Amino acid sequence: MDSRDNLLQEVIESLGLEIDVRKYNQLQKYVQILLERVSVQRLVGDNTPYLLYHKHIYDSLYLLSLMQLPLFEILDLGTGAGLPGIPLKICLPEHVFFLMDANRARINFLRRVMRELALERLHFLPGRAEEWGQNPDFRERFGVVVSRAVAPAVVLAELALPLCSVGGQVIFYKGPRGNEEMREASKAISICGGSIDSCKQYRLLTGEERCIYIVKKIKNTPPQYPRRVGRPAKQPLRD
Ligand code: SAH
Repeated sequence: MDSRDNLLQEVIESLGLEIDVRKYNQLQKYVQILLERVSVQRLVGDNTPYLLYHKHIYDSLYLLSLMQLPLFEILDLGTGAGLPGIPLKICLPEHVFFLMDANRARINFLRRVMRELALERLHFLPGRAEEWGQNPDFRERFGVVVSRAVAPAVVLAELALPLCSVGGQVIFYKGPRGNEEMREASKAISICGGSIDSCKQYRLLTGEERCIYIVKKIKNTPPQYPRRVGRPAKQPLRD
């Protein structure tokens, strides 16, 4: 075992997860690919095995220590270099995942990750959430929408809730300002048909504070949301 094995082992053990050798190797290979790509490291903001495992892989997989994800289609909105979507996909091979990102180069990178890791039941949605959210094939389609480090909660609510099916859930991965952000987002959440269900605060293995907010979709989103590209960020649905 080299030190990278230990890093992953610590993540898996502290989350109380059990994963087989195939998933273990896929997680390692994914981190290896991230480490090889300077542009990706810039996006993720970190470039050491320690930080990739103890911060980003840990954070991505934390959700699995909280809940069992139902076997619905899952969307990662603003996946970037594949966080949290790729680690979750690796650990949930039976689930169908969609990775969405406005940046085509990132989607192309993720197609390569998919090939190299031999991932299945994985689809890509290149483009903006404002546009996918108004596409009848994708609007209110996903039983679970996850999103990490994409936009303030007030903006994300308008991007994510229209893509979530009634009865489904939107999972906001947030940092230390999470509570404040969610307070600010309460009007946008209710306008778009959501209701805050629960919140879990935790620390990464690096010590940083995080929280996961679970928002239930309780009624259909009115047809005017999401508004056109850029509008949710420029004129957030605040009080
Ligand atoms: N979730 C990743 C990436 C965060 S960076 C992580 O945790 O590391 C934010 C990503 O969201 C970028 O790749 C950006 O292209 C994408 N993004 C931002 N606004 C978007 C929108 N409106 N629609 C689709 N993708 C968006």
